[in-house]
Amino acid sequence: MDAPLDRINFLKDEINKSNYKYYVEENPYLSDFEYDKMFAELKELEEKYPLLKTPDSPTQRVGSVSEKFFPHTHKYRLYSLDNTYNEDELKKWYERVTKECGDNIDLVCELKIDGLAIALTYENGIFVRGVTRGDGVTGEDITTNLKTVKAIPLKLFEPVDVEVRGEIYMPKTSFEKLNEENLAKGEKIFANPRNAASGSIRQLDSTITAKRDLSIFVYSSVFENVPNPPKTHYDGMMYLKKLGFKINPNIRLCKNIDGAIEYCKEWDTKRKDLNYATDGVVIKVNSLNCQQDLGFTSRAPKWATAFKFPPEEVTTKLLDIELNIGKSGAVTPVAILEPVLLAGSTVQRASLHNFDEIKRLDVRIGDTVLIKKAAEIIPKVIKVMETPEHESLPVYIPPVTCPACGSQLVTRPGEVNLYCESKNCSQQITAKIEFWVSKDAMDIEFVGPAIIQQLYDNRFISNAVDLYRLTMQDFMQLDGVKEKSAYNMYTSIQESKTRPLNRLLTAFAIRYIGKESAEILAERFATLDEIQNADVMTLCEIDGVGDKMAESIYEFFRDEHNLHMIEELKNLGVNPTSKALPKSDKLKGMTFVLTGTLKDMTRDEASDIIKKLGGKTSSSVSKKTTYVLAGENPGSKLDKAQNLGVIILTEDDFLEMIKEDL
Ligand code: NAD
Repeated sequence: MDAPLDRINFLKDEINKSNYKYYVEENPYLSDFEYDKMFAELKELEEKYPLLKTPDSPTQRVGSVSEKFFPHTHKYRLYSLDNTYNEDELKKWYERVTKECGDNIDLVCELKIDGLAIALTYENGIFVRGVTRGDGVTGEDITTNLKTVKAIPLKLFEPVDVEVRGEIYMPKTSFEKLNEENLAKGEKIFANPRNAASGSIRQLDSTITAKRDLSIFVYSSVFENVPNPPKTHYDGMMYLKKLGFKINPNIRLCKNIDGAIEYCKEWDTKRKDLNYATDGVVIKVNSLNCQQDLGFTSRAPKWATAFKFPPEEVTTKLLDIELNIGKSGAVTPVAILEPVLLAGSTVQRASLHNFDEIKRLDVRIGDTVLIKKAAEIIPKVIKVMETPEHESLPVYIPPVTCPACGSQLVTRPGEVNLYCESKNCSQQITAKIEFWVSKDAMDIEFVGPAIIQQLYDNRFISNAVDLYRLTMQDFMQLDGVKEKSAYNMYTSIQESKTRPLNRLLTAFAIRYIGKESAEILAERFATLDEIQNADVMTLCEIDGVGDKMAESIYEFFRDEHNLHMIEELKNLGVNPTSKALPKSDKLKGMTFVLTGTLKDMTRDEASDIIKKLGGKTSSSVSKKTTYVLAGENPGSKLDKAQNLGVIILTEDDFLEMIKEDL
């Protein structure tokens, strides 16, 4: 019996410690996934050995209360939710529900907002008190701070007595902005929007809370003096909306658990486009009578459960810091990690941004780090977990010489990166070639990093120009390359010779000139020679080309090494096609901002059409924006457009507008 008792005591200690760090200090030292794993293990052990279950176990309690604010005892207890990461367990939960309440029980699915739970009390329709969930029995009275949250109504549309529960959250964009500002001021950086929301609403000075962009979604209520109280959760939610509360628009009534599982799958993808963090789906029995029959455990309702999305944040060990030299010579540190499962894939590397970031986070080799995967972005290290080992590990010292070629690294004014400025640095050369063949540049299929490395190591190429000198025979001398793939590689290089001018300009990797600015240049100049001959003034006059960019372009075409490369490219037959002139100038002078998912085209395709018709696209909404083209699940750009009074087009409006010019 000793072993399970030891394990139970260990888990109880760890969970209690992490509860304190998470709820009171807002500085978790475990990822939610690991916490949930330990919690599930403790629950399982307690079920197996019921005699070892004690009333002080974290499985019998909810959250934690701090002593920061006046305590307030809740009139109605606030519960947590049981959770699962697993579809089969959802089905088992539904079986238990139907066993108690009969077949075909309607369910309501809602997004699980990752914020801070609070209870709002209204008397006669007037907001009188707001309290955090705390340990479910007692919370912190934060009424003054909650009054600064504009989405919380101070007076309802009907004079009812009601207690409403909801989740305070901070939009993702505001969280990023707050962290940027705090970083500049040397203040606390929040690990995620949940911590930022919790830290902001639990400020002792409510003028600070007022400056933070906080909002709320309400998700349940207890009515006291309503003549015909709602009989289902769904109707209750609609009534809350009518009273003036903000409810999440993505609520859905489902006929059974299959419908709910469908909803979970759908939102696991779609939630990435939302401007607020969600960590799962809450599934609730719709009938309030059934809810009453099912009741509660000591910490959660039996009539609801949370399906958690695969974790997007996990902790793992940092094994090493690898140094990568990019196409511009910038040396970037990359975290080499103990392999870990994150959002459905095994991760072994993560971005550490730059050496300033390593210093700010105090990342040391051997540390346990929290890594996060955001939509389409490679995972990044966001935090060093507080562990006893951390202090004993040596502080990381940035390199002084290039790890590839040994030359002295330099800093450039106003930049945080370290640079290798050697023209013969092998890693920099291969990075340049990799960029040359990439999708955004010359888009050369079949020639990936491993082939480039082999070609370089075997001295077939020493720069991107050499790609155009390669023969089929050269490819066939490489390891594992047969005739068919040699042919594919050879032809795709040959085909790239006539790529549009903007692609060649992107491939040059001119400082400050990316894909977008290369397009602007290719729209203004028909040939490479024209750009080469343009002076700084002419370049500066182009809309979208700033002083620094103009100077950089001008310098690029004055550098002997570059001129020689261009000459060689021409001799080898690289002859970019000039961009077609606009088909019509229907959209001339108009600036579009695109947001959300379009159904008949991708956003890139829509941008191409806008540009072909003489219009421009921009990534942010301002007073200068003519239209915002909004697809499904638009982001915060839509809110901004509404605030600024910018005209919003649906995809159908847009297609109608351009149909004669397509
Ligand atoms: P929870 O966050 O898993 O679920 C309950 C909460 O969900 C409710 O209190 C409510 O605030 C919220 N919620 C959001 N949308 C909702 C909706 N539509 N309907 C109903 N409720 C909704 O539970 P919890 O007790 O607040 O916290 C436990 C969780 O917090 C753990 O599972 C873990 O992920 C995390 N945690 C992590 C650590 C750590 O160290 N990393 C420590 C403690 C807790």
